[in-house]
Amino acid sequence: MPVWLHDTLAALASPGLWRSYRHVWWLNVVDDGWRYLVSALVVWGLLHVLLRRRLAHRLIAGWPSNADLRREIAYSASTLAVLAAVNSVLLAMVVGGVVEIYADPLGHGLAWLLLSLPVAVVLHDAYFYWTHRLLHTPWLFRRVHGVHHRSRNPSPWAAFSFHPVEALIQSSALPILLLAMPLNEYVVIAFAVHQIVRNTHGHAAVESLPRGFARHWLGGRFVTTTHHHLHHETAQGNYGLWFTWWDRWCGTERRDYLERFDAATPPRHRPTVDGAEAAA
Ligand SMILES: [Zn+2]
Ligand SMILES: [Zn+2]
Repeated sequence: MPVWLHDTLAALASPGLWRSYRHVWWLNVVDDGWRYLVSALVVWGLLHVLLRRRLAHRLIAGWPSNADLRREIAYSASTLAVLAAVNSVLLAMVVGGVVEIYADPLGHGLAWLLLSLPVAVVLHDAYFYWTHRLLHTPWLFRRVHGVHHRSRNPSPWAAFSFHPVEALIQSSALPILLLAMPLNEYVVIAFAVHQIVRNTHGHAAVESLPRGFARHWLGGRFVTTTHHHLHHETAQGNYGLWFTWWDRWCGTERRDYLERFDAATPPRHRPTVDGAEAAA
């Protein structure tokens, strides 16, 4: 068991619950915060700063403004506060035996250890798609989800740029999953890492996946940066988070998706002997 988890559980079991809760909340702010910081910083630093000129031809629509970045970081800080609060409650649920995060990797067998992450990711995708559709109903969009959509050209910092109510809805995915199934502690960490890495990448504003990826039989099943960018651009269609299948089953995938993906991944041109250019 990681030391922080051991300390957290020990804190929760001690008297003075609210003092303990604050302590655990701070531990969770640090634990969730560094993952968000590192992931957003790496994706943003690489794609928006270091490779900005080299990737200009892969810009989906436009670069986010500095005002966008400031707003996204401010809302992400408030989301981290909510996420840490939910995760502190989750740890209390673990201590109380309501849900199970187990330490022994083989505690529920090797098959479950290997299957549980894909199962959790697929169920999380379904949870996100339907809560996202709900957030697009006019009342909730105006009051809650509109915050995330203020980023027409999002940056990786928009990954957590949510109204606190939406932050609560999205942070509740893991506790809800755990009510249905036990997860190994390393699976929980892998779930959190997958979540933040793909989320920051999905808000990158430039398409970094290879040309043809979205038309590939397997690649086409995954949500790309272009897929989610079109959602930000129009606030209509492309509601999926990790996979495209819910949008395809429900007829909500944008018709221009593949065309826009192609446009964001133009063929590389290399000069030929006679000086003309040939597509690679
Ligand atoms: Zn988004
Ligand atoms: Zn939306």
